[in-house]
Amino acid sequence: MKIETKAVHKGDRKRNPDAPGAFVPSSTPIYTATTYLYEDTAKLDRVLGREEAGFCYGRYDNPTRSGLEELLNELESGALAQVCASGMAAIHLALLAALTDRRKSVLAANNLYGTTTTLLAQIMGPLGIEVNFVDLCDLAAAEQKIAATKPGCIVMETISNPLLRVGDLDRIAELARAAGAALLVDNTFATPLMIRPLEHGANFAVHSLTKFLAGHGDVIGGAVISDEAHAEVLRPLSRTIGPVLGPFESFLTMRGIKTFPLRFERQCANACRIATWLESHPRVARVHYLADPKHPDAAVIRRLLPNGPYGALVPFEIKDAAKEDVFRFMDKLKLVVRGTSLGDVHSLLLYPAIASHREIAPKQRQRMGISDGLVRLCAGIEALEDIIADLDQALS
Ligand code: PLP
Repeated sequence: MKIETKAVHKGDRKRNPDAPGAFVPSSTPIYTATTYLYEDTAKLDRVLGREEAGFCYGRYDNPTRSGLEELLNELESGALAQVCASGMAAIHLALLAALTDRRKSVLAANNLYGTTTTLLAQIMGPLGIEVNFVDLCDLAAAEQKIAATKPGCIVMETISNPLLRVGDLDRIAELARAAGAALLVDNTFATPLMIRPLEHGANFAVHSLTKFLAGHGDVIGGAVISDEAHAEVLRPLSRTIGPVLGPFESFLTMRGIKTFPLRFERQCANACRIATWLESHPRVARVHYLADPKHPDAAVIRRLLPNGPYGALVPFEIKDAAKEDVFRFMDKLKLVVRGTSLGDVHSLLLYPAIASHREIAPKQRQRMGISDGLVRLCAGIEALEDIIADLDQALS
């Protein structure tokens, strides 16, 4: 099945043999119950012992949540998916699963989402886990750092924020495997429609479901999808710690995913046309876009994404703009939402200097290539002409 078909059908239409009439709902209902009854206690005993499939307690399993997990597992070609109450909870859970039987040492990309860096440096670090950072787009530096720090886990994003850098996933997976480290890849920006990290040798793919997958700006959620080798470590961790997504959010996310391929296709098409339009705008100094042949990782992108799509994100730099100029531009936007997220049906614009990269000193931000004039647009599904007209009036 193609991903577009899986998105509509997988995880749904479960028969409940214990329900009167044993009907099959055409879409997965919201089950709010925390406990489940069976006709005899011997069956409950078998379900609790995991000798028989079934549901017994909401922290372990829930029919709505498990429908969503089955769907995500299919989309990411995994062995087991566990959905969590946020993307950050999912990253935390995946890190614990990756480090369970390994050296308590993490090597992370130096351009991760800010809160992931904070989780590693300010929470995992003080708990005794060694944390090192490296530019994973520089393979020689990565190789050297792996040899020097012997990590138990390597953490990267398929596409970095906000400059859209792309590391060589295949090569990094080889290096991780040779070093005995687990590879954990945050696939939020790319989505399984662009790339599926487990098919490239990663052990865990994680998502902020809050973004493209749920897609409507009304759910906070996350997911860990693991390979076969880590499924039986991941499941008991989730059941014990209990970072699980509630049934209503699971339902909303599953509903959102049914149209995700359609939405994403439109968002990527809009992004491509917006990038071309911005390139020739007199007020724009630079556009970052994955299909740009001058992209610093162009060779890797050509290999990993030979036919696109190239994503919905279009960060761009407003010419000679200081913070006040960017504020003036943002305040003039009438359609594009000024927000701190991405992946929604509506176009969203974020200013990294006051949002994702707020905690980084201005000089360090400049060194990272994040100028005061850089804004990050995520294209929505609106008519292209309307998005461009709004950007144009605000830029001028
Ligand atoms: N990963 C990436 C790449 C993100 O951009 C975000 C949030 O912006 C997260 C993880 C965290 O997700 P959540 O806000 O759902 O916890």
